Amino acid sequence: MQQAFSVDLGGKVAVVTGGGGVLCAEMARALASSGARIAILDLKLEAAEAVAAEIRAAGGDAIGLAANVLERASIELAAAEVLSRLGPCDLLINGAGGNHPKGTTTRETASVADLTETDPAVVTFFTLDPEGMRFVFDLNFLGTLLPSQVFAKQMLGRDGCSILNISSMNAFRPLTKIPAYSAAKAAVSNFTQWLAVHLAPLNIRVNAIAPGFFVTNQNRALLFSPAGEPTARAGKILGNTPMKRFGEANELTGTLLWLASNAASGFVNGVVVPVDGGFSAYSGV
Ligand code: NAD
Repeated sequence: MQQAFSVDLGGKVAVVTGGGGVLCAEMARALASSGARIAILDLKLEAAEAVAAEIRAAGGDAIGLAANVLERASIELAAAEVLSRLGPCDLLINGAGGNHPKGTTTRETASVADLTETDPAVVTFFTLDPEGMRFVFDLNFLGTLLPSQVFAKQMLGRDGCSILNISSMNAFRPLTKIPAYSAAKAAVSNFTQWLAVHLAPLNIRVNAIAPGFFVTNQNRALLFSPAGEPTARAGKILGNTPMKRFGEANELTGTLLWLASNAASGFVNGVVVPVDGGFSAYSGV
């Protein structure tokens, strides 16, 4: 895999949660091509294995493991497997995350008519399901906290270890319709700063990437019609992205490798780096 620049992650073990997905599979490939041994953890074992097999076929060292980032016992089983097959974790990428329709309102803004809405398919602010909100909050926030608790133990007393969280544009300013995902990613950014401070005496750095808009499995249906035409929401996103396009997954890897390499970013701690074509800088005017 051709990288824009090279960092040496030889001898490092990187654990990538959600590594069976679009963005984190690309991150796993980039870490592998920089010399790291990779453990891909995903709810979907098949997806994790497929990415690991691809990395092995390209000459890298990778294993795919089933793990649920919401269940400590499941993460601990995977961590034991990582330790015995690859060695202790040096880099943890907390990539598993996403939204759910139950944490999503149907319309962008409220109206008085919401109070008398009878269509059960329409979710208003007043009918948002607390369980849906909790699911999204847990997936993104607890799904970052729990793997950090488990894998940071393997980092203790060793140099050059770090944790990289995946935040979002929603963390800076919430997007309409998705209050659960927005609040959860804001929590991820906040936790990144908290954990960076908390683990600093142990020489474990904690940073985050906040991707802008990338077309992946979890948002494809929101961004494109079945015929492949951009939806109104996609048009709004592009209208507010000064570079007027979606990101490509490989455009996250330069920031990833910089933050993963202690030689490159050894004094960078507690930052949330937007990779967004200017979205977070633009006021819309
Ligand atoms: P994706 O759906 O392609 O990948 C997510 C992966 O996480 C999937 O393989 C899924 O099986 C896995 N996963 C889900 N729940 C899990 C669980 N409980 N335990 C373990 N694995 C689980 O999505 P993606 O777009 O590649 O997203 C990767 C990360 O980037 C997510 O945290 C997402 O919120 C974030 N993000 C994405 C975008 C974007 O534009 N796509 C923007 C900002 C942030």
